[in-house]
Amino acid sequence: MTNSFIPPVRTLMGPGPSDVSPRVLEALSRPTIGHLDPAFVGMMDEVKSLLQYAFQTKNELTIPVSAPGSAGMECCFVNLVEPGDTVIVCQNGVFGGRMKENVERIGGKAVMIQDDWGKPVDPQKVEEALKQHPEAKILAFVHAETSTGVQSDAETLCRMAREHDCLTLVDAVTSLGGTPLKVDEWGIDAIYSGTQKCLSCVPGLSPVSFSARAIEKIKARKTPVQSWFLDLNLVMGYWGGESKRAYHHTAPVNALYGLHESLLILEEEGLEQAWSRHQRNHAALKAGLERLGIDFLVDPEARLPQLNAVNIPQGVDDAKIRTRLLDEYNLEIGAGLGALAGKVWRIGLMGHASNMKNVMFCLAALADCLS
Ligand SMILES: *Cc1c(COP(=O)(O)O)cnc(C)c1O
Repeated sequence: MTNSFIPPVRTLMGPGPSDVSPRVLEALSRPTIGHLDPAFVGMMDEVKSLLQYAFQTKNELTIPVSAPGSAGMECCFVNLVEPGDTVIVCQNGVFGGRMKENVERIGGKAVMIQDDWGKPVDPQKVEEALKQHPEAKILAFVHAETSTGVQSDAETLCRMAREHDCLTLVDAVTSLGGTPLKVDEWGIDAIYSGTQKCLSCVPGLSPVSFSARAIEKIKARKTPVQSWFLDLNLVMGYWGGESKRAYHHTAPVNALYGLHESLLILEEEGLEQAWSRHQRNHAALKAGLERLGIDFLVDPEARLPQLNAVNIPQGVDDAKIRTRLLDEYNLEIGAGLGALAGKVWRIGLMGHASNMKNVMFCLAALADCLS
């Protein structure tokens, strides 16, 4: 006979999902109500304004897409790119490659800027590409590359794009809530994130935000958005402010209770405080790893505090150590991807999981497994 599924209690210090706040888990279990219930609609408005705070934006179109970060990515691309459009795509890890895939499936032309895995996007190369491709309508890049633990200079890249009259499309799945991100100040036009990284929430929702310039481009489209579900013209009818909420799809009611709670936690702590907590715990982890003889893949100035990509010491069996950490310590850390498989571990200190107890626990478990 099959029984109820009772998951083991793990400490999640990989590339995501990360530990979920107990407050969020409790919020998820509250009674489900109708998604057009006035009480629920009131909560949706609060989710919108809490998201505006997290993104540091006044953008009216700031909503959670009812699907994971990958759907937020697709939502940005299918709405902003039309067949024949040129998009400059920066790739320095896994997720830039997915951006290319999105552009090409839409029938757009992706001009690729390649940087080594473990290095940030090179603004010099972006400037050159913007000059060489005046026809480019969008610059797309990943702010925090979870596959390599690298942070790129979003502020500089956005300024360059603006000087060339290009819109910006930014992946902030791992940066939101963990590292400074200022949508309005930096002039980001389209941005997507995820709930399962630094927001301390469960996987499955993707906060997105669009500037007035981005909405103008969407409204001026000559072709319909080929995705019915992600077509913002339709989604706006559901999330839109003054207009009556039209049924589009059944909102994931309980998941949105969870997001509401997680954003409330972020607001209570304060964004700046959350950013500095991530930095502090990263510094403590780094000091401890150095004592174990473990060094970082990424140069100090481009390191993500919430995702520590570290070189696996010579002669150490990657899979064996990770299996022991999981079996003996209920501790999950991430493996390397692609060219970095077997070469690096990715130790996440994201959201609720970014705390001193986890830092000490991970260091002690690693020291034991490596001795
Ligand atoms: C995790 C992640 C995604 C995808 O999010 P999912 O919720 O797994 O779909 C996209 N981009 C980056 C940088 C990520 O870290």
